[in-house]
Amino acid sequence: MNRLKDKIALVTGAYKGIGQAIAELFCEEDATVILSGINDELGQKVASAINGKAEYHHLDVSHEKDWKIISNYILEKYGKLDILINNAGINGFIETAGPHDPENLDVESWKRVHSVNLDGVAFGCKEAIKLMKGTSGASIVNLSSRFGIVGFPGGAAYASSKAAIRSHTKTVALYCAGKGYSIRCNSIHPGAILTPMWDAVLGEGEVREEAIKDIARGIPLNVMGEAKDVAYAALYLASEESKYVTGIELNVDGGILAGSPAVPSQE
Ligand code: NAP
Repeated sequence: MNRLKDKIALVTGAYKGIGQAIAELFCEEDATVILSGINDELGQKVASAINGKAEYHHLDVSHEKDWKIISNYILEKYGKLDILINNAGINGFIETAGPHDPENLDVESWKRVHSVNLDGVAFGCKEAIKLMKGTSGASIVNLSSRFGIVGFPGGAAYASSKAAIRSHTKTVALYCAGKGYSIRCNSIHPGAILTPMWDAVLGEGEVREEAIKDIARGIPLNVMGEAKDVAYAALYLASEESKYVTGIELNVDGGILAGSPAVPSQE
């Protein structure tokens, strides 16, 4: 229960879904966790319900000025940052007008998705490197997606932004290693994880239950993932157990990316 003892961690988009599971697990492992996001009321509520060293601070990841404010706050209060989890992300289905397919895409929606998903990660890495380069054993974990690796016809901006996160992660990893900074950087690629992000596509009641079963049928492990499945991957990459691991992409997807469903049957 102390895999993150004495670590200061910042988690973006931390009051629901995968971010919340990461914040809670990191607190269980004795880290001090700064939860952040844009809904301050919910953020305060979730942080104070956590049994551990947790606090909430406002951070819209798409605003570079917010990153500077939180960075100064962390430096003044804690004197360092050990872990950054760049988790905040949107698929744009609720937040923007769309459409999102490559033939008809709406340019404002395209820009907004990239602004949160990609600019947010780039700003986060930029500030974190400054905060972390004096420390030892620091770790940045970026939430990409299976759609950072394969295409998504109905979500062109989402896939593009997540692919760019995959690439930027390796750039940051090599940059920090080259500079001799003790900062690792890795990406996680979740598959279909049941969180509020899915609400817009699942519907409600029986329709929702059927949709979940339908999605599960397309997953080799036959079930959608839980937020905690991703949190455990983040814990490994954040802790010093992964001290020799940088620039990797870790799939947490029930086997989706392992291969094609069009393989010949064994029967
Ligand atoms: P979620 O339940 O929708 O949570 C996303 C969080 O990000 C929310 O707390 C949201 O706050 C916050 N957020 C949105 N815009 C923000 C901004 N500009 N600044 C700061 N925070 C912001 O999503 P999730 O499923 O947990 O996903 C977490 C990450 O994993 C995302 O990067 C997502 O792309 C990635 N991922 C998820 C899946 C999946 O199947 N769930 C699969 C692949 C990748 P509000 O609710 O207040 O807007």
